[in-house]
Amino acid sequence: MKPAFSLCVYCGSRPGRLEAFTQTAKAVGEWIGRHQGQLVYGGGNSGLMGIVAVATQQAGGRVVGIIPHSLAEKELARDDCDEFHLVDNMHQRKHMMAERADAFLALPGGIGTFEEFFEVWTWRQLGYHNKPIGLLNVDGYYDGLLAFMNTTVNDGFVSDWQMTLIQQSANLEQLLPLLIQKAGLSEGKGLDAI
Ligand code: AMP
Repeated sequence: MKPAFSLCVYCGSRPGRLEAFTQTAKAVGEWIGRHQGQLVYGGGNSGLMGIVAVATQQAGGRVVGIIPHSLAEKELARDDCDEFHLVDNMHQRKHMMAERADAFLALPGGIGTFEEFFEVWTWRQLGYHNKPIGLLNVDGYYDGLLAFMNTTVNDGFVSDWQMTLIQQSANLEQLLPLLIQKAGLSEGKGLDAI
């Protein structure tokens, strides 16, 4: 059966310090599975990445993992994904992840997560894609970044329009349906209940 939607999740290859990060990663996977969705992610079993993937599959969702050869060992490649791709390099990984997604979601993570989030945001402002992008601000993890983004707007380097290209919320039950709805997938695909 074709998944109802495909959500690309960027998140830490480490679990982070707070239990809330782990719990939220699990809840995101469960939400995807519960709504017959598909997770597209970095293909590893480490940190929050592994937690989202396991939770998605356990809840009945489909998982697409995409990992470069060079990271397969370090990030504990999870080849029991429903679809698993070993690619040549990071560039191919990110391109394929973006292509396979209807929407993007960043959870707490480190520099890899930041880079991926900002990359799809810049691709969106350039018109390379038109897919919604969400930032899940778990337990205030991204408060500092959001405050800095306000500075960038106030100081004239980022426009209000650019800020409208991302959705941010602390509440996954609000943010995930919004992303799927903005992806234009809520009609005729069994997502009316969201
Ligand atoms: P992190 O948030 O640093 O724990 O990394 C999360 C994921 O982002 C990992 O799967 C990294 O392999 C990936 N990643 C993507 N782009 C980069 C990059 N340019 N540098 C480091 N990690 C990256």
